[in-house]
Amino acid sequence: TAALELRDRVVLTGVSKTYDTPTGSTVALSPTDLVIEPGAFVSIVGPSGCGKTTLLQLLGGFLTPSAGSLPVGPDPIDGPSPERGVVFQAPTLYPWLTVRGNVEFGPKCRGVDRKTRRAAAERMLDLVGLADFGGKRPYELSGGMQQRAQIARVLVNDPRIILMDEPFGALDQLTRERLQVELLRLWREAGKTIVFVTHSVEEAVFLSTRVLVMSARPGRIIVDRDIVLPNDDP
Ligand code: ADP
Ligand code: ADP
Repeated sequence: TAALELRDRVVLTGVSKTYDTPTGSTVALSPTDLVIEPGAFVSIVGPSGCGKTTLLQLLGGFLTPSAGSLPVGPDPIDGPSPERGVVFQAPTLYPWLTVRGNVEFGPKCRGVDRKTRRAAAERMLDLVGLADFGGKRPYELSGGMQQRAQIARVLVNDPRIILMDEPFGALDQLTRERLQVELLRLWREAGKTIVFVTHSVEEAVFLSTRVLVMSARPGRIIVDRDIVLPNDDP
């Protein structure tokens, strides 16, 4: 519905981020105006240190802008929310929980009953190819497997906006393609808004419908283009 769409529209107005460090300060993102429409599939590319992660974490509510505003729909972002799932670049699984426990954690916090959340977790673990690893601890998994577990942990919450920071970089080609297809399905069939950072221009061009290119010093968006497929209606 229109109301639902409005709810998920992300509008950045003059959003900037400066990190203060003991040796000075770094402008990671210079003032940025950007609208992300509901149902968009946006990729962010650019060299290391150009502010991609900063922008993504601002969108996720994990960072506060130094200036400007970025409401989602009518509400200002005032912290992380399960409605905006963030897949971080480095896996951030709880080491004291099993892999399944990590995936179930979000639904458990939201009061989803045991049977339902267990079934949802198993479905997600199967999706990312970790069906046999639910009972393991994160440190028993390889880096790529931890990354997959993290993707499962985010997707199980059924977030309306999915934010991913190089989600497929550490994965083998088969797993990567499988998850890319799943991401496309979530976008096409479930109407998710997806924003992801990637080092692969090919991935950006073939997966997303809009590509943002960033440049460093200070970090800013220098290119913002829609991808039009040959068979798209004009
Ligand atoms: P990217 O994701 O494109 O590699 P980042 O958003 O991680 O870029 O970083 C942008 C700039 O901000 C870089 O110059 C980086 O060194 C700096 N930066 C990122 N995080 C921090 C932090 N927590 N403290 C200080 N500087 C940071
Ligand atoms: P990735 O490509 O995900 O980093 P690896 O190449 O490290 O994975 O591991 C290849 C395969 O070895 C995995 O898919 C998994 O089946 C198995 N494996 C890796 N680490 C472990 C572990 N700690 N316990 C059991 N099996 C493992």
